[in-house]
Amino acid sequence: MADLDIPTARQLVDGDWTPAADGGELPVLDPATRETIQSVARARAVDVDHAVAAARRAAPGWATTSPSERGAILSRWAALIGEHVEELAAYEARDVGKPRSGGRLNMYIAQGIVDYFAGAADKLTGVTLPTRTPDYFGYTRPEPYGVCAVIIPWNVPAVLTAANVAPALAAGNTVVLKPSEVAPLSPFALAELGRRAGLPPGVLNVVTGLGPEAGVALTGHADIDHISFVGSTVTGRSVMRAAAQHLVPVKLELGGKSPNVVFADADLDAAIPAIIASITENAGQNCYAGSRLLVEESIRAEVVERVAAGMAAIRTGPWDQDLDMGPLVSQAQYERVRGFLAEAPAAGARLVVGGEPATAAFDDGWYVAPTVFDQVDSDMRLAREEVFGPVLAVQGFRGVDEAVALMNGTDFGLLACIWTTDVSRALRVAGQARAGQVAVNQFHDAGVIGFPFNMQKESGFSRGGGYAALREYTQEKAVAVRLLDRPSA
Ligand code: NAD
Repeated sequence: MADLDIPTARQLVDGDWTPAADGGELPVLDPATRETIQSVARARAVDVDHAVAAARRAAPGWATTSPSERGAILSRWAALIGEHVEELAAYEARDVGKPRSGGRLNMYIAQGIVDYFAGAADKLTGVTLPTRTPDYFGYTRPEPYGVCAVIIPWNVPAVLTAANVAPALAAGNTVVLKPSEVAPLSPFALAELGRRAGLPPGVLNVVTGLGPEAGVALTGHADIDHISFVGSTVTGRSVMRAAAQHLVPVKLELGGKSPNVVFADADLDAAIPAIIASITENAGQNCYAGSRLLVEESIRAEVVERVAAGMAAIRTGPWDQDLDMGPLVSQAQYERVRGFLAEAPAAGARLVVGGEPATAAFDDGWYVAPTVFDQVDSDMRLAREEVFGPVLAVQGFRGVDEAVALMNGTDFGLLACIWTTDVSRALRVAGQARAGQVAVNQFHDAGVIGFPFNMQKESGFSRGGGYAALREYTQEKAVAVRLLDRPSA
């Protein structure tokens, strides 16, 4: 392929774009128009078998390729991503429905991640161990698992491909990637660039298919050595059950219900735009979306008013208009979010802004207006469950103890954001957060390189992100040696 065209009704197996064994296809839709923009192969168990077999054949050669050479290939891959940012961004933006600039930002992030693991590939080391006497020598060595299954959702497919595939490959594993059937285009385009960068056939295979078909076949496959799953908590439970069948190690990155906790002394000029961005970026379809606003009662009215004004000003449109927010990704997601919009007022929440399913101008797409509900009670579904749309639930608190109780009051434990100018309080509350990640006076991890993407509670368990991800994709072998006396000649 001269350019980055993705062949129709194909998947990438053993270095070739091949159709599904039964010729099955799946349509990929533009969520702004509901039109089919591409079709991809509909992989079933037999296709997954082929992909796993290809990855298995490639595994010994890739594991014994020098780490520096693996790093060099990943480095070329990162450079190619940089050269193709616009095409990649267009694929992802159209596929997911996000504004073009959001897609572009995702590609720079993906490029940075691949580059990071390119540099890390030859820096993975074990340790030497202390011995009781000089007659012994002990050491550990990190080893690849072998064939890794990686399953990702549709919301940030390029970043999630990079974040999982790059460390797995850097550590010497081969990969079978199953992107979501809803948004497979940017993972395909990235994999094609990986092939051009010099990844040998079989090292990175991409199968597209439905969760109950290709996903189930992959997680239940007897010849997989590690499963990395990113997706909903409900599916995560099934994946863990499937992994138990063959006792395969599993890494789970699941849903979230992340709070912005705003104390009365917070810098509101910094906080308000970040709170709005945290729930409207990608139309609220991010695992770490700031879907709960917990605000000290004394400033609640002001904060709600300013956030609502900002939400009302969000411009919505299709990806190529490059406005602030696009539609939701699919009919299913649209119906789900509309369910919350209908239920919340009936349960007693006060609608402040939004709540509309779509505007007249965008009747063809799955648009939902940015929405704020105040006076949300902790018992409501809106306070506890992941909506995955631009819908913000506001709750008030009095004092630190109540703030901490609300912050930790869901089953999820992904990210907590704390807004205060009192550094001692920020650090105390950060210590009490039952979340894998905490951000203070910002939303998410801007400014920190290699920030570990950690999860707690029902958000999963993983040490993705940064150097820790390399460890996640290796198993440690311990070696004990007795030094025998050499018989004298
Ligand atoms: P999902 O769980 O429905 O699907 C995720 C992937 O799993 C898809 O590729 C799907 O085809 C596949 N799948 C579905 N059923 C399967 C099964 N039984 N066995 C194996 N695979 C199966 O999630 P989604 O709707 O695509 O994505 C949204 C979810 O992803 C949200 O809950 C969001 O929070 C989560 N997410 C988490 C992170 C994170 O890092 N924690 C990042 C992004 C998204």
